[in-house]
Amino acid sequence: MTTDGGAVTTLSDGIDVRQPAGLRTLFFTELWERFSYYGMRALLVLFMVTPPQQGGLGFSTAEAALVYGNYTMAVYMLAIPGGFLADRWLTASRAVLIGGAIIALGHFTLALQATATFYLGLILVAVGTGLFKPSISVLVGSLYARDDERRDAGFSIFYMGINIGAFLAPLVTGYLAQGAGFKAGLASAGIDPSTSWHFGFAAAGIGMAIGLGVFFRQSQLFINTENAARSDAPADDPAAVRDTLLIVLATAVLAAMMVMSDWPGFGWMRTVVLLVPIVAIVWFATRGTAEAQRIAAILVFFLAAMIFWAIFEQAGLSIALFANNLTHNEIAGTTFPSAWYLALNSLFVILLAPLFAALWTRLGAAQPSSPVKFSLGLGFLAASFLLMVPAALLTADGKVSPLWLVGLYFLQTVGELLLSPVGLSTMTKLAPVRATGLVLGIWFLGSAFGNKLAGVLGAGFQSTDANALSRFFLDQALFVAIAALVLLAITPLVKKWMGGVR
Ligand code: GLN
Repeated sequence: MTTDGGAVTTLSDGIDVRQPAGLRTLFFTELWERFSYYGMRALLVLFMVTPPQQGGLGFSTAEAALVYGNYTMAVYMLAIPGGFLADRWLTASRAVLIGGAIIALGHFTLALQATATFYLGLILVAVGTGLFKPSISVLVGSLYARDDERRDAGFSIFYMGINIGAFLAPLVTGYLAQGAGFKAGLASAGIDPSTSWHFGFAAAGIGMAIGLGVFFRQSQLFINTENAARSDAPADDPAAVRDTLLIVLATAVLAAMMVMSDWPGFGWMRTVVLLVPIVAIVWFATRGTAEAQRIAAILVFFLAAMIFWAIFEQAGLSIALFANNLTHNEIAGTTFPSAWYLALNSLFVILLAPLFAALWTRLGAAQPSSPVKFSLGLGFLAASFLLMVPAALLTADGKVSPLWLVGLYFLQTVGELLLSPVGLSTMTKLAPVRATGLVLGIWFLGSAFGNKLAGVLGAGFQSTDANALSRFFLDQALFVAIAALVLLAITPLVKKWMGGVR
């Protein structure tokens, strides 16, 4: 073991898996940012549909679902202009600081009690996350040289931080917003207990403020490293202002198209979202330049991720409904809230991420390439929906065992760990130095579209016809399995397009 201040870990057989010192700071900063994101997200729909007498907004479920879908899409879509602004103007470190401050401000705005401050708060959180989210991953990537074999392991550890935040947050904000004990405490302090929601939102803001504090203490270190890296990169482009405006405009058009795709007669716009990347892959791959081929590879990963999230993100919709309506939610005679299943995903990430990190480190140069990891990720996702086919058939005889959903989340989380942290890592490897933020933005655009499509696909769920339900799962499982096989088949090509990057 060495003593350069790195976060030192040694596997039992003495293999040195030391990670760079900066990873610790980024791990905790992102843990708290995700605490704020998922803590607020856990309350959002509940707050919107709760009647005003109980402190909510009194929206219908349909209205709330619309706000929720478009908000979660906007959060990830704004990573495009956010990443680009970081590349061209701000640097990733400053984007993290400014974005983090805007996010905290957004949550504190949600802590105020008016409909106008509600929308303003959502806008601030989305804008701030657009700046913060791609840049924090850019900084993780900047800790490693391009061929450093520890990169995927580092991202797996970072991903664990994300999920520690995601796991703890709903417990804290949920207790503040809905806990009977906290409400009684408010009442005895002479505060109206129906304002409890806003304490939940404030807790999210405090989480982000802690994250900002963690990062601020080390920010000079990151600013110096970034300046050093950028000094080798090509000089500023005079067209930067024009490009910035174009990117902002293109994002606005995309967002508008996705919102419009909900209108009757406009559903075809969603097909466009699938077809454009396929056409673009072919176009870039046949350009012949190394740069264009790398873009083709990035787009393959983008498309695979979009398909992945479109199934995975149904956790809050079709899977939540399956949990609520068709599962026997009881352990040892005690019933538990169906929302608890959601925590299984974060819990499995926390348990499995260190194993994956150790595996990638141990395999070193012998680890599978990113396209192979991606197809395995899609394969596990397909298996998770395939598992639900017999579960769905069994619902004909009544509610089924919780173990089906435990199995689903286990398989999905293995898939997620093969795809999501690996994707972050691969994007930071493939991107040109001055465009890493933009490339991460494109990566998160896959999440934005995926979230939107999850809403569309999940709407096909119903709990009354077991046969139809089994088809619902089977069709999607087959679609994802085909996507996994296609990706596996084109892996040699994708590897060639990646130009030596694994
Ligand atoms: N759960 C991960 C996170 O919050 C990945 C989300 C995504 O890319 N859709 O960062």
